[in-house]
Amino acid sequence: MSRLERYVILPDRLFDGRGRFINNPVVVVEGRYIYDVGTRGSVELREPYKLVELRGVTLLPGLIDAHVHFTGLRSYNPAEVLTVPYELRVLRAAQDAQKALYSGFTTLRDCGGTIALSLKRATAEGTVLGPRILASGKPICQTGGHCDIHYLPLEEVKKRGNSILCDDPWECRKAARAVLREGADFIKVMTSGGVGSEKDDPRHPHMSIAEVKFITMEAHRVGKKVASHAQGAEGVKIAVLGGVDSIEHGYFLDEESIELMKERGVYYVPTLCLVEVYKKMVENPPPGVPEWRLRKQELCIEHMPRSFREAYRAGVKIATGTDYYGPPMRSFGNHADEPIAMVRYGMDPVDALIAATGNAAECLGLEEVGVIERGKVADLVGVVGDPATDIECLRKVVFVMKEGVIVRHE
Ligand SMILES: [Zn+2]
Repeated sequence: MSRLERYVILPDRLFDGRGRFINNPVVVVEGRYIYDVGTRGSVELREPYKLVELRGVTLLPGLIDAHVHFTGLRSYNPAEVLTVPYELRVLRAAQDAQKALYSGFTTLRDCGGTIALSLKRATAEGTVLGPRILASGKPICQTGGHCDIHYLPLEEVKKRGNSILCDDPWECRKAARAVLREGADFIKVMTSGGVGSEKDDPRHPHMSIAEVKFITMEAHRVGKKVASHAQGAEGVKIAVLGGVDSIEHGYFLDEESIELMKERGVYYVPTLCLVEVYKKMVENPPPGVPEWRLRKQELCIEHMPRSFREAYRAGVKIATGTDYYGPPMRSFGNHADEPIAMVRYGMDPVDALIAATGNAAECLGLEEVGVIERGKVADLVGVVGDPATDIECLRKVVFVMKEGVIVRHE
């Protein structure tokens, strides 16, 4: 067997993923893991090693986007799902994975879709260059819910099988087992209407507590998490009382839903960068975007920052997720938009960095990444400048290491 590659990395500064900074640090990577971390002089360096000097750079744990969809779509036209061949969409998704990794995001969680189930294996085995991917596979929702395709006949939606429609707790249990059988890393449910689905309303609750409970029970007994798309406060409450582990979006939170999330330690993935996307789309609609979608976006714009601020102030645990899936303004590689949006809407930059690293890893249930500590997996990102004072630095990526392998170094 060949000797493990050993790197000694010398950035100007280091952020550990939990809130601590080290000036003039040394990080020693051996093989797939971080072997040692400390200040210069305090770490013993064993020859031979490869020196990586990163002047003017802050080193961070590999960044995490807790909410994306590998769809291979490139426009807002709802019919694209039918008109673009599946194989082409898969190839585009492979390109998206590479873009994400180059931008410093070494872990992505795909919150609904079938492509990611295979793409995660392709990036893990090295067939496709990309981040670590956690995939939910087919999302579960009620008939007419957010992952139903409202313009198609119901039988056609069931036949296509992009999602599983369930209307009682027993169907939910069966769906959860089917999804786990496909190799899902977690389960995605939809407990409210949404923006991208034609005939529902993001404020309306979907599914029942009993239905959600049957899903969370199945997931938790095999050590997996459940994430719920929940935009209105009622949908958030159903999800939390049903036992989910994270609330995705939460655009219309009220005091009670915030209190519930906090009390039960449920993560909040606000997908806040969509405020900026929605604003741009409403002002200047891109081709193919339907009128109903613009109306719903307009409705959400003013509520999203308010819900985010109130949950942040209340101390709800927050993780970064973009909900990007491929079309313009929501394309892969721009995942830093989310921590940047969080700071723009009132979050302390250090908290935004934690949301994109240590917190996001905890939200995903990953103990080996999200922090720079001895024994953790060597997922590392170098950015020019100091993101603690200028969060926009997250766009200036010059170094990316995934599992001890350098994938970008400028
Ligand atoms: Zn989503």
